[in-house]
Amino acid sequence: MKGRCLCGAVSITVVGEHEHEIGACHCRMCQLWTGGVFVCFRADAPSVQVTGKVARHASSGFAERAFCPVCGSHLWMRDTDRDGAPYDLMPGLFEAARDWPLRSEIYSDRAMASARLEGAHTRTPRHEFEADNAHVEGDMP
Ligand SMILES: [Zn+2]
Ligand SMILES: [Zn+2]
Repeated sequence: MKGRCLCGAVSITVVGEHEHEIGACHCRMCQLWTGGVFVCFRADAPSVQVTGKVARHASSGFAERAFCPVCGSHLWMRDTDRDGAPYDLMPGLFEAARDWPLRSEIYSDRAMASARLEGAHTRTPRHEFEADNAHVEGDMP
C-alpha cells in the first residue's frame, strides 16, 4: 500500500500489518496540529518504509509528529519513548484508505462544533481517556 504527501517529496509504503479502520482525536494538541480533527490508522514499525526528507516535532515528552518539510503534509504521530513503536499514519495520504470506517474517537467531548463525527463508533471523553492513559500530559487549556 503506497501513500504520499501533497508535493510528492515524501512517500510511504506499508508492506505488512496495519489497521483498516480510522481513529480520531480531538485533543487540543491535535486541533492545533491539524487545524481541526486528527485521524489516523496504526501500522507496525517494520511494515513502514519512508522515502524522502521528513521533519519531526516533539509534541510531548513521549511522542513526535512528522510532516513533509516542503509542503507541510502531516505524515504520522509516533511514540518516541520506546524502540519499535508503531506508526499512527495519516489515512489521507493513502488512496487505499478512502473507504475505511471510523472505529473510535477520543477526546470526543472536546470536538469543535464543526468537527463532530456522526455514527455508531466508540467515543471516549477526555476524563475517561486520561484515566486509562496516565502518561499523557493532558489536554491543553
Ligand atoms: Zn510534501
Ligand atoms: Zn490528540
